[in-house]
Amino acid sequence: MVTKPSGSDDKEVICRRPLVIPVFLPQRGCPRQCFYCNQRVTAQDTCDPPDVVAGIVRCWRDRSLNVAGRRVELAFFGGTFTAMPAAVQDAYLVAGERLRRDGLIHGMRLSTRPDAVGDAVGRRLGRFGVDLVELGVQSLDDRVLALNHRGYGAAEAVTAVRRLTASGFAVGMQLMVGMPGQDRGSFLATVERTVALRPAGIRLYPALVLAGSPWAAVWRRHGEPRPLELDAAVTWCAAAVDLCVRAGVPVWRCGLQATDGLAAAENVLAGPYHPAFGDLVKSFRFREKVIDILGKDVLQGFARFAGEGPATVEFGLHPGDVSAFVGHRRANLDCYRRRFPAVAVRWTADVRCCPGTLTWRLAAG
Ligand code: SF4
Repeated sequence: MVTKPSGSDDKEVICRRPLVIPVFLPQRGCPRQCFYCNQRVTAQDTCDPPDVVAGIVRCWRDRSLNVAGRRVELAFFGGTFTAMPAAVQDAYLVAGERLRRDGLIHGMRLSTRPDAVGDAVGRRLGRFGVDLVELGVQSLDDRVLALNHRGYGAAEAVTAVRRLTASGFAVGMQLMVGMPGQDRGSFLATVERTVALRPAGIRLYPALVLAGSPWAAVWRRHGEPRPLELDAAVTWCAAAVDLCVRAGVPVWRCGLQATDGLAAAENVLAGPYHPAFGDLVKSFRFREKVIDILGKDVLQGFARFAGEGPATVEFGLHPGDVSAFVGHRRANLDCYRRRFPAVAVRWTADVRCCPGTLTWRLAAG
């Protein structure tokens, strides 16, 4: 009998996070509409004004389980926070500061663009106790950035990350998958450069043709540029997550948050939208790991067991990973069976297993 841990350096992929309470400011402060963007679809139609922030936080706290003992963060998401008028920024930040003083939140984060974080910005955010800044970097390929009307280059994005980090902020980086003009090499090169910057975490979003975006107008006329197919987006993301895991950089999210806007068929004209996109990526990664084990190690081991009956491979995994291991409608199990008909795959869920990892053992029988 052989026992071997697989991927012992493969820490939990989607980390347990604090309770993050979002306040949406769709496209507020944005200097222009980026080629792929329509936040009225991906976030919400209306902007939450500063005077509702306290109510949103209380409501989230009331309806969330296990708030006690958990870090609670207020997040201003959706636009270019630091490019809004200073008085508007202050109104939101003051509301957050009060909630922190009252003990209802522990930290604040916000999203902005790399070209909107000059030195004065850092001082303002620091004064109000913002902990984390999420930068919508999207790509570190100048050509891709230009094609998507981002208005800054890779060097500026890298400088922004370094500046915020040096000022003591944790920095999250948001990257897009399958932007117009981006191929797999460009995307993975961006991920490699991103993890080298040691951000606090990464979000990966597939690029979609959204109604109301500049992309939609072009796409309706020409059918181009084409977004990724779902399978391709999943495999690109899986490769990106592998890079992040190896570098020890947490992936906070893979895929867009499912919203009513995204669920409405007329809003997503084309592209790899799936309400459980992150689960598809996770499931794909498990399948690849299992195939790797069955293909390399087990077959060698199996040869040693020849004559003693069919081999059984028993996997150990965290209970939260069983559905990813099995796959949607047991597709992964079917795949293992097809690829390795002489091997019976079994599994045991065990809370002592580290999420995202597999152990396995080979037994005759
Ligand atoms: S992608 Fe970001 S910066 Fe561009 S329009 Fe949308 S919210 Fe604004």
